[in-house]
Amino acid sequence: MFQKTVFADAKENYKDAKFVIFGVPFDATSSFRSGSRLAPDAMRIASYNFETYNSYYNIDLYDVPFCDIGNLEVSCIVSETLDLLYAEVLNIIEDGKIPIMLGGEHSLTFVCVKAFYSKRKEKKNGNIGVIVLDAHLDLRDQYAGTKNNHACVSRRILELTDRYVSLGIRSGSKREYDFARQKAIKYYTPESLENKGLKKILSDAIDYLNCNQIYLSIDMDVIDPAYAPAVGNPEPFGLNPKEVREIIRVLSPYLIGFDLVEITPNYDSGQTALLGAKLVREFMAGLVRSEQRIQK
Ligand code: MN
Ligand code: MN
Repeated sequence: MFQKTVFADAKENYKDAKFVIFGVPFDATSSFRSGSRLAPDAMRIASYNFETYNSYYNIDLYDVPFCDIGNLEVSCIVSETLDLLYAEVLNIIEDGKIPIMLGGEHSLTFVCVKAFYSKRKEKKNGNIGVIVLDAHLDLRDQYAGTKNNHACVSRRILELTDRYVSLGIRSGSKREYDFARQKAIKYYTPESLENKGLKKILSDAIDYLNCNQIYLSIDMDVIDPAYAPAVGNPEPFGLNPKEVREIIRVLSPYLIGFDLVEITPNYDSGQTALLGAKLVREFMAGLVRSEQRIQK
């Protein structure tokens, strides 16, 4: 790990931290716009824009113990980077902390999920579901010569578990859509969220996952390019930021880990990194608040 700017208010040491933020500056399989390797630091810088106090939750992040352990030293070879990341996430989980990964590209999510699954098998402590927010199905078996391409990440996750739902889907190849139909993969389009209502869809998704713990991955291209223009593969007709915030709010009581990937700062005038940083802050405040409710 090496460190430049830390995420705002990340003042706790690792030992006493509840949340562990870390960056993975890796974008070697990016297919259209590369540069997500620059996103962790862009989000860190953007994070200083915000107040420490979250009025919705009545939580001051200044009082929340979290740390930023810097960026993982990555390899240019995807499988090597994934091995390093897997070991890192496993450590964080073993230490009883909640990992928050700032990508980097979406391929990284697979080993974060895998680390949770390997721990669950060991401890047998309930079922874990995965919710992916993405414009894209990411169901290719392989792409550009590797199974670990960002366009394959949901396919890899589905090899680990059926407890998978994706939201915001509006793009994929015909083969991916055929595969999704054949396997009855649960995904929701932005239109279905609009028509049925976010709360209804989320309660359906939670029922379907039938679990008490959820890992959440946000590919920032799920958000409409009007709000989040700087992503690897921008796709029109997406969710708006308030919908994504609402998803985090509703899922908070279940969440055990989080990542936010695919921001490409070179295409940004700052707003995508700001939104990313804000969502990370919403995640932490939401989790702390829902734990306090459970304890009461
Ligand atoms: Mn993706
Ligand atoms: Mn995507």
